[in-house]
Amino acid sequence: MTKDIQPIFIMPESTQRSTGRNAQRNNIMAAKLVSETVRTTLGPKGMDKMIVDSLGDVIITNDGVTILEEMQIEHPAAKMIVEVAKTQEDEVGDGTTTAVVLAGELLKRAEDLLEQNIHPTVIAKGYRLAADKAQEILKSIAEPVSISDTSLLKKIAMTAMTGKGAESAKEMLADITVDAVKRITEVDGDIYIDTEDIKIEKKVGGSVECTELVKGIVLDKEKAHSAMPRQVTAAKIILLDSALEIKSTEIDAKIQITDPNQLQNFLDMEEKTLRDMVAKIISSGANVVFCQKGIDDLAQHYLAKQGIYASRRVKKSDMEKLAKATGASIVSNLKDLNQNDLGKAGLVEEMKVGNEEMTFVRECRNPKSVTVLVRGGTEHVVDEVKRAMDDAIGDVASALRTGKIVAGAASTEVELARRLRKFSDSLSGREQLAVEAFATAVEVIPRTLAENAGLDPIDVLTELKSSHDKEKKWAGINVFTGKVMDAWQNGVIEPLKIKTQAISSASEVAIMILRIDDVIAGGPDQGGGVPPGGMPPGMGGPGMDM
Ligand code: ADP
Ligand code: MG
Repeated sequence: MTKDIQPIFIMPESTQRSTGRNAQRNNIMAAKLVSETVRTTLGPKGMDKMIVDSLGDVIITNDGVTILEEMQIEHPAAKMIVEVAKTQEDEVGDGTTTAVVLAGELLKRAEDLLEQNIHPTVIAKGYRLAADKAQEILKSIAEPVSISDTSLLKKIAMTAMTGKGAESAKEMLADITVDAVKRITEVDGDIYIDTEDIKIEKKVGGSVECTELVKGIVLDKEKAHSAMPRQVTAAKIILLDSALEIKSTEIDAKIQITDPNQLQNFLDMEEKTLRDMVAKIISSGANVVFCQKGIDDLAQHYLAKQGIYASRRVKKSDMEKLAKATGASIVSNLKDLNQNDLGKAGLVEEMKVGNEEMTFVRECRNPKSVTVLVRGGTEHVVDEVKRAMDDAIGDVASALRTGKIVAGAASTEVELARRLRKFSDSLSGREQLAVEAFATAVEVIPRTLAENAGLDPIDVLTELKSSHDKEKKWAGINVFTGKVMDAWQNGVIEPLKIKTQAISSASEVAIMILRIDDVIAGGPDQGGGVPPGGMPPGMGGPGMDM
């Protein structure tokens, strides 16, 4: 813009705008900052983060996506990186740190190329080429796994929990994980797994070793009436989603009573209705009732007298899980109750866990829904063990769904980088540079694993590369000795999907950020506004939403 030309405003004056290299530099910097934050948590020797929210609640975690969600990141480009972690979490359940670190490194390497005056669209094209090739390479180096490979599946679960709060009991937790996933897996030609069918219930108290797999459902509920039995064996279960109460009339009805007998009649009528309801339950042969709504005191009393176990106000989601675990159908109207609606469990019991009574529905014959009851000394421990179990369950499920696994400890990444470099030899010019940069970016995983273990990243990487050149495709880092090891032989095994998903979402977001050359942030009247590349203005209005 020359001096003598008047500037023309096409947007409100309060609009913040940055363009060209400036916009790119700011976005890349913000994205890199996010990935730097979680980088130190990667791998078995990774550190934990302590996050304190505005209410003073403390979370201690090693889990990438949890850290980023709790940090309440506001910068728009940084938020895009957080989305990468969330996608990874939804698609696989593990590998969130890996995906974020990779995205940051792809941008960092792209920045070097930008400095060499390579146009962003050329870099984007090279990255896309490399990402496609990477998918192909990853699939070709993966090994098969099936539901009968119990010991391999267990190794996957253990790898997921290495270095997490669950570490101390990972052997036992891995057994639980594999058992749980196998039970809810349905195989009919295809493999179908819904990890929601594994309910993770947390209860502070005891130790992590007390964590147990219940072949059925654990409810955070006590029995409705103290006179009910604490244990019912050979349980026949009714799941009722309407109340065992007298319905209050829909309209305000007034009942005029003229003599005391009428009142007695009226009360008798109510009592009879409740008795009839309970009689219906008794005649079905049921000895356990789970009711999503309330149960009248009188009905509780009648049920208790018949030795029937009942819980009320059971959550809808738990009702559905109970149906899957026991084979019961949820009944809305007792009139329609029939024998086939009843579910079965070997044992229903009330047990004190920590300081509270809980209901255990155990020994279901072929449960399609199970519960892991996570125990641990403090709330922080229980929470972190649950997150580690979530990762492990996600990994085992993911391995079974695609039937493909790879070795970890950076072996896959080093092999991938090596083959990508070979591929780049077939290219020419600036695209070749971009593919090489992509390969170097993938090596951020071995470098970071080494750094976090207090090892020299350059030495480690050199040694790894030379092993891979000798066709040892599973050569990885032993973070405990600093030596190269065969990751496969050492049982460090991960689902292929962790790697393919991390590559695809990290490269997508890197490309997207690279292609932005103009950031236009609305003025304060559109909701605060974050100046591109900066922090929100001093008054701390709400951040810009993407
Ligand atoms: P993410 O959120 O990406 O899953 P983690 O902190 O779980 O991050 O670390 C995962 C990385 O740690 C993977 O690269 C995996 O291969 C590596 N890893 C796991 N167990 C071992 C081990 N025993 N030795 C070396 N590396 C390991
Ligand atoms: Mg992990």
